[in-house]
Amino acid sequence: LVSRKWRVKPTVLDLGDGVTIGEGSLAICAGPCSIESESQMEKVMTHLLDNGVRLMRGGVFKPRSSPYAFRGLGMDGLKVFHRMARERGIKIVTEVMQVSQVEEMHDYVDVFQVGARNTQNFNLLDALGGVDKPVLLKRGISGTVEELLSSAEYVFSGGNEKLMLCERGIRTFETASRNTLDLNAVPILKAKSHLPVIVDPSHGIGIREFVPQMALAGVLAGADGIVYETHETPETAASDGAQTLDFDESTRLIRNLRRVYALR
Ligand code: PEP
Ligand code: MN
Repeated sequence: LVSRKWRVKPTVLDLGDGVTIGEGSLAICAGPCSIESESQMEKVMTHLLDNGVRLMRGGVFKPRSSPYAFRGLGMDGLKVFHRMARERGIKIVTEVMQVSQVEEMHDYVDVFQVGARNTQNFNLLDALGGVDKPVLLKRGISGTVEELLSSAEYVFSGGNEKLMLCERGIRTFETASRNTLDLNAVPILKAKSHLPVIVDPSHGIGIREFVPQMALAGVLAGADGIVYETHETPETAASDGAQTLDFDESTRLIRNLRRVYALR
């Protein structure tokens, strides 16, 4: 069902209030790795609105490699995130980690993110197949393109057609970067599937100074959108500071993303 053989026309997701994701426009989604505080959200939202960006990412349930690392503000944080975003006309993308969270998070999210560690959590995919909210499905850490499409099939066949795919880098033998952003996957996914394809250069390369180049390369490779991490002071970010842009870098990137998209 997610194949171009089944549906030729590209899927465009309408998030309401004029925010769409899919062919015909470039979706830009930015924000911190983790939601940390009201003042942090306020600063990020102001930065985004100053740049005409109305999609914000930010995790409240964080899948951390170490149990001792910051694991997110949970539902309390999400409720504040949602309220502040609503007040400003911003749509939010946030990660759901387990089936039990789908229902409690439902009314407070615009897009459910499925993280790379959960791409093959089939119970979670089944649960998201039953909701009427868009899903951003990340590629598994060691997942193939076919496995990503099969995971998408779970959600879509469950009845939720509001779905987008995200290339966020895969684990390879290369250790010079956090992950290997597989830009090959972008045109391949676009050719195989009618779903929007998003590139996450932050997790893809993991090195702040190279994130903008990889984001721009993602657009040239054919991505329908870019999701990246930004924070007022990346050095103090609760997670993923080393791959997070400050607002000056983010402003420059947004401008360049639009320029490069216009060349396509
Ligand atoms: C994130 O978006 O902050 C995240 C944890 O992403 P991934 O699942 O791709 O590692
Ligand atoms: Mn992150």
